[in-house]
Amino acid sequence: MLKLKDIHTYYGNIHALKGINIEINEGEIVSLIGANGAGKSTTLMTTCGIIPAKRGSVEFKGEDITHLSPDKIVALGLSQVPEGRRIFPFLTVAENLDMGAFLRNDKDEIAKDLGYVYGLFPILAERKSQTGGTLSGGEQQMLAISRALMARPTVLLLDEPSLGLAPIIVKQIFSIIKQINKDHGTTIFIVEQNANLALKAANRGYVMENGAITITDTGANLLVNEDIKKAYLGI
Ligand code: ATP
Repeated sequence: MLKLKDIHTYYGNIHALKGINIEINEGEIVSLIGANGAGKSTTLMTTCGIIPAKRGSVEFKGEDITHLSPDKIVALGLSQVPEGRRIFPFLTVAENLDMGAFLRNDKDEIAKDLGYVYGLFPILAERKSQTGGTLSGGEQQMLAISRALMARPTVLLLDEPSLGLAPIIVKQIFSIIKQINKDHGTTIFIVEQNANLALKAANRGYVMENGAITITDTGANLLVNEDIKKAYLGI
């Protein structure tokens, strides 16, 4: 479904990604974990075309998307939920969701998807006329996920969905992520510092250090791996 092949990405002279290989199959939940500054966000941004790779390729359903613009990549079916949510604070919840469907013109299907996200997050339906900036952090994360879903993606990319949220909200968000995967077979790629939750939710995981992938295995195996336990799970 999605293949990152020998990706090298730079910020000026900083070599942030040093030959990354990641493969995500249709219908999977895959998590990428790693410490601060390891290169997780850069991996997502390179996948979405925001910071294109200097070398290597990103393939989506067999098509080379390495140098496509971010809007073309969204139109193909890859939607990102960025770190820090980045919802539109002065637009209402309903308007934020409209923006997610910006590239679509299938009105009836858009209405169906709106019903689906309001079903996933009833609090958003209650607050649909409220501006995004007045929502709590957890509600903003729900809105950011919903906005991405309004593009009806086949692959949903999430950058640190747990960031700055209370543990109970984080649990709820991860449970909804699993539900989205189950309901629509949506392929999900999560970049996360909360290794425990990210690996529990994932079929497979990748571990990143200093811009390179160091280990890859099933989520279940990584959770019991002694090195991972020590370095990322605090056990
Ligand atoms: P975090 O969990 O803190 O978001 P991360 O694993 O997502 O970390 P990245 O944000 O991808 O890591 O950063 C990878 C490397 O690239 C780091 O060394 C970081 O300092 C550097 N970097 C990230 N963004 C920029 C930028 N805009 N300009 C220069 N260097 C950057």
